[in-house]
Amino acid sequence: MNTQTETLHETLTTPVAGRYDIIVAGSGPAGFAAAITAGRMGARTLLLEQTHAVGGIATSGLMSHWTGATQGPLYNEILERESQPGPEEKYSGRHIINPDKLKLVMLEMLQEAGVDLLLYTFVAAPVMEGNRVVGVITENKNGRQAWRAASVIDATGDGDLAARAGAPYRKGREPDGGMQPVTIMFKVAGVDYSRAVFPGSFETNFEIPGGRIQDLGHAHLPHPAGHVLLYPSSLPGVVTVNMTNQTGIDGTLAEDLTRAELACRRQIEQIVPFLRDKIPGYEKCFLISTASLMGVRETRHFIGDYTLTAEDIVEARVFDDWIATRCSFNFDIHNVTGAGLDKDGVQHKFRSKGNYTIPYRCLLPQGIEGLLLAGRSISGTHKAHSSFRVMPICVNIGQGAATAAVTALRDGVGLREVDIAKVQHALGEQGVTVG
Ligand SMILES: Cc1cc2nc3c(=O)[nH]c(=O)nc-3n(C[C@H](O)[C@H](O)[C@H](O)COP(=O)(O)OP(=O)(O)OC[C@H]3O[C@@H](n4cnc5c(N)ncnc54)[C@H](O)[C@@H]3O)c2cc1C
Repeated sequence: MNTQTETLHETLTTPVAGRYDIIVAGSGPAGFAAAITAGRMGARTLLLEQTHAVGGIATSGLMSHWTGATQGPLYNEILERESQPGPEEKYSGRHIINPDKLKLVMLEMLQEAGVDLLLYTFVAAPVMEGNRVVGVITENKNGRQAWRAASVIDATGDGDLAARAGAPYRKGREPDGGMQPVTIMFKVAGVDYSRAVFPGSFETNFEIPGGRIQDLGHAHLPHPAGHVLLYPSSLPGVVTVNMTNQTGIDGTLAEDLTRAELACRRQIEQIVPFLRDKIPGYEKCFLISTASLMGVRETRHFIGDYTLTAEDIVEARVFDDWIATRCSFNFDIHNVTGAGLDKDGVQHKFRSKGNYTIPYRCLLPQGIEGLLLAGRSISGTHKAHSSFRVMPICVNIGQGAATAAVTALRDGVGLREVDIAKVQHALGEQGVTVG
């Protein structure tokens, strides 16, 4: 596709549709948490989301479960609100997600917090005054609109706003820019839970009739698919499948995302027969749903005032300017060139000195004012990102980001000047603790 043939110079007059204390772009785990927190702290808050639903990968991405041992009051509240007795709970100690239930739970929580929400609204660009973000431009059925805000939180996953604002970033891993593969999650029904197996990690490679389960996947599935990841759901006979796998995709390019849709959907056509033929309990399974949002694991890593490293995570560092605490997960790097775990990933052998914290400086994109990053795009190395990208940690980051933004607003100072002790005090009042 040739996208470089012509440049159109246009002058647009854009109406200012509203003014807010805090605008949050993107409503995944990080953006949802940020908007809820800002609303609960009494800030006039607008949450903008391009899809039909809040939740991001947790909901529209058809996610299986909240991963890791991270703790946090808002995260725990989400778990409690969405929890439901399910026949399959006994098969898994995981925090299973029912995406359709979670969509409504999140909408109701936002409404209770007094957050204004616009779905079906793409955040196209920041409004800039010099190097300061003072609002955003949206495109939706209403047309093109501008919104002003004291602070903007970019929780788009890819950092769309920060990139447009001119914040510096790298894509993917440090030596060559390689990014983790993308996945369309899907669900099958008709699984016999009395016999079904649920390999939950790349390193879970047990014997089934015909061979070891991951070896069978590598032998029979179309490259770059190949691993077998199957998760119990909260619905009878329904299993969530994390097995499509497309490498070489840049999730910030529409043409790559389009290519990945076709590739992953073709893989599903081969994965379902594989499950029926090879995996005990799946003999009568059939496809019932696929994610409406491409599962993009990794794109831009912004350069913040601090860059979180793998060592910070292993050493369980408690930073003086922590804004997210009790974070816990391994280095879940999916193979950048094929199936399974990447050579730099560590799952079962992961060891650390405890839970880690995330410093506020990772949320401050260098050279830009008025804007905070929240979620998987914060400043971290490729390896550190493979840990903090998981949803519970993104919730904690979003909560910390909004608490800092509202504290700055109350004190009439810029985001870089905020009194971090006050931010941490406010987080403490919300039940956030270190340790
Ligand atoms: C396939 C896959 C499997 C995973 N498995 C797990 C798992 O089992 N457990 C776990 O805890 N984590 C898992 N993760 C990681 C986790 O889901 C993500 O890293 C996490 O959701 C990131 O949260 P976020 O809020 O930063 O971004 P996202 O969840 O990506 O949310 C971003 C939101 O912003 C919206 N958006 C983007 N751009 C714009 C724009 N310009 N304008 C308006 N809206 C916009 C999107 O529609 C989306 O709703 C998985 C990720 C993937 C891709």
